[in-house]
Amino acid sequence: MKHKHYDVLIVGGGISGTALFYELAKYTDVQSLCLLEKYEALATLNSKGTSNSQTIHIGDIETNYTLEKATITKRTAKMVEKFCLQYGLQDKIMFKHQKMALGVGEKEVHFIENRYEEFKALFPYLELWDVEKLKVLEPKIVYQDKAQTKLRPEPIIAMGTNTQYTTVDYGAMSESLAEQAQKATGVPTDIFYDTQVTDVIQKEDKTFEVLCKDGAAYTANFVVVNAGAHSLFLAHRMGYGKHMGCLPMAGSFYMTEDHFLNGKVYMVQNNKLPFAALHGDPDILAEGKTRFGPTALMLPKLERYKKGTYLDFIKTLNFDFHIVKIFWDLFKDSDIRNYVFKNFLFEVPLINKKLFVQDAQKIVPSLSVDDITYAQGFGGVRPQVLDKEKEKLMLGEASINPENGIIFNMTPSPGATSCLGNAERDTHAIVKHLGLKFDEAQFLKDLTE
Ligand SMILES: Cc1cc2nc3c(=O)[nH]c(=O)nc-3n(C[C@H](O)[C@H](O)[C@H](O)COP(=O)(O)OP(=O)(O)OC[C@H]3O[C@@H](n4cnc5c(N)ncnc54)[C@H](O)[C@@H]3O)c2cc1C
Repeated sequence: MKHKHYDVLIVGGGISGTALFYELAKYTDVQSLCLLEKYEALATLNSKGTSNSQTIHIGDIETNYTLEKATITKRTAKMVEKFCLQYGLQDKIMFKHQKMALGVGEKEVHFIENRYEEFKALFPYLELWDVEKLKVLEPKIVYQDKAQTKLRPEPIIAMGTNTQYTTVDYGAMSESLAEQAQKATGVPTDIFYDTQVTDVIQKEDKTFEVLCKDGAAYTANFVVVNAGAHSLFLAHRMGYGKHMGCLPMAGSFYMTEDHFLNGKVYMVQNNKLPFAALHGDPDILAEGKTRFGPTALMLPKLERYKKGTYLDFIKTLNFDFHIVKIFWDLFKDSDIRNYVFKNFLFEVPLINKKLFVQDAQKIVPSLSVDDITYAQGFGGVRPQVLDKEKEKLMLGEASINPENGIIFNMTPSPGATSCLGNAERDTHAIVKHLGLKFDEAQFLKDLTE
């Protein structure tokens, strides 16, 4: 039986786990590192290139972000770009695409105009594009018909850019993070695949014993669980985060056969439902075919396109009357109720395409049912966290840090963009707890502007 001891052990080999693996190996004097991954390879779940929207959400066209929020996200999102540039990954796994936030109708047009004025100082490369400019940049969003003879009836405007890195294969980036981590240090940096962690136990000497399904056991001075929805599952087993439940929201896509869009077209978001508005963009892993989505459907399992995890869902939902109250409050809101119902219908065969196309026509008015097919095998699960104390759906990421040498992270969208920023936060906690050195000057030089 394997029984090794490590300074730091990370559970989960998605983009969050590998980002932390990299930062610890490259910028600290950690003496040994281990990463345990349940499946046969890194990033086979939500960080896989085809599971998410491949977008670096920097905050310039994310209309649900305030200026304050965008200032913070800009710093961490840039770390993704900086990492890729540092290792020459541009045009291999990271690409520049045109991107825009599109306003449709009077109200949204005013919104985009005002937002552009507010955000142009933080993002000086942003441009405001009127119909004439959009006819050239993204003609299919301007015209009502396929022949491009008739303009759509509503006024439109967009704020956007075509000079920035926008798109990343986060699966490939996870692999690169792990590879560079192993190259960066001479100390042990072990990665064990097909190793599902079932329990973590804190021992009397304050270190942790990590138990695996195959009977293996490892010990560590510090453990970080970056296992997506399963982070909360493992936290609950240790008695942490009992005030939280997890609601897995599956996101699917529809794909066109032909090239429809030149770049990423995002819509104005509803603040009650961040990242819920559909977008369209060329998929870098599907020969640039245009992909529309994602949808949002509650799934009674924690992992998409993998066997099982139904029971894990029931346990992690942590169902009680607080959860009922959260659902009740959500469903009282007609916007949310309609959104949930509509997204359910998007998955029902025979009617799904017809309904979906109606929504996607807000982006491309001439899009028809015959143009799109359900993108089988694409999409993933966003582990949304329910806060039972506050009786609210938490819209962003959640981290449980009892400050005793273990951290659990849950990372719904846009968790891939913030992977290196979240790892920076955890690196600080780890070096403080273990009394390690952190070469912060080099870290900031390499990864921030
Ligand atoms: C439809 C959709 C679109 C999205 N679009 C974007 C986007 O455009 N931009 C963006 O920034 N983010 C986006 N996201 C969010 C992003 O994909 C996630 O935030 C990110 O991938 C989370 O990474 P992770 O490493 O935390 O989790 P995951 O990628 O889920 O990785 C968790 C890892 O832990 C492993 N694991 C689980 N349990 C165990 C265990 N018990 N033992 C060992 N290992 C275990 C899993 O096998 C997996 O490898 C999107 C998500 C979805 C679903």
